[in-house]
Amino acid sequence: QSGAQLINGNEIAATLRQGISSRIAETRARFPRFEPHLAILQQGARSDSSTYVKMKLKAAAEAGIKCTVVQLGGPEDGVGENEVMAEVERLNADSDVHGIIVQLPLADDIGRDGERRITEAVSPEKDVDGFHAYNIGLLSSRASEPLFAPCTPAGVMLLLESTGVDLRGKHAVVLGRSDIVGSPVCAFLRRKDATVTQCHSRTENLEHLVRQADVVVAAIGQPRFVPGAWIKPGAVVIDVGTNYIPDATRKSGARLVGDVDFDSAKDVASFLTPVPGGVGPMTVAMLMENTVLSAQRLLEKSQQRLVKPL
Ligand code: NAP
Repeated sequence: QSGAQLINGNEIAATLRQGISSRIAETRARFPRFEPHLAILQQGARSDSSTYVKMKLKAAAEAGIKCTVVQLGGPEDGVGENEVMAEVERLNADSDVHGIIVQLPLADDIGRDGERRITEAVSPEKDVDGFHAYNIGLLSSRASEPLFAPCTPAGVMLLLESTGVDLRGKHAVVLGRSDIVGSPVCAFLRRKDATVTQCHSRTENLEHLVRQADVVVAAIGQPRFVPGAWIKPGAVVIDVGTNYIPDATRKSGARLVGDVDFDSAKDVASFLTPVPGGVGPMTVAMLMENTVLSAQRLLEKSQQRLVKPL
């Protein structure tokens, strides 16, 4: 084994972005007013949230997608669940807006249940994050396609596809069961006919399970948790984790690492994603993809309405 082939997320995301830009240009050639529009609802100014919002703004600008950030105040300004909800309703009703995302977390007093209610208030037709229960249900069910697939898991699947490895009948072990990564990744892998084992913090014999895996997807948020020694030789490894660890040699004093120990895993895996430069760039690119998809669908709908016989 001469070492893993690295899966270049930057390159694959760049190809995806090019495709998005050309689709926008083609549609605009026929419909000059075509302008995909993404609205981001942000409450408060957490620095991590602001970083994600900035990344989305930059990607949107590069692709030719209009992006509006609706900045909401916090509880101190009298903004609670009802006010956020009203803003979601307004964006649902605005026919110029094609995609809506609610940047989580919202203020503490809204809580998890409130966040769920607000996520469910977004119209499934504009749910470009793919977080609405309607879209989660469609993804999980065998007989249907979601209107929008969640971005990070869809990005993971594109990275897997890029390896050319046939997932049919393969044993995939997914670490993590969040609604935004672990569980939808499992749903996607099932659809590809993989046999899926989903692990979480209560899983016993985790090492034993990972050792059986032809495909490992790690999404637990634990720095370098999976050592190369756990990886079956020749397995495909996708590392979703983004963890900052102290590093005195960096100006910032910190360094980004994944959930997999890259240095030892690269000697055993057949394909491996680096962190950064693996899954990360795919997420934002998929969000742009979903926004354009939505704008094209809504355009088609409005065209159908125009040609409908009276
Ligand atoms: P999350 O909601 O915190 O979920 C973490 C999951 O990992 C939970 O299911 C948890 O189990 C499980 N877990 C935690 N410690 C574990 C352990 N020691 N052994 C086994 N399972 C363990 O996190 P998330 O939102 O899914 O994100 C996961 C990671 O992916 C994070 O590092 C995040 O930053 C990263 N991420 C990256 C991107 C990207 O674009 N690259 C996007 C999203 C997330 P329980 O359910 O039992 O608690």
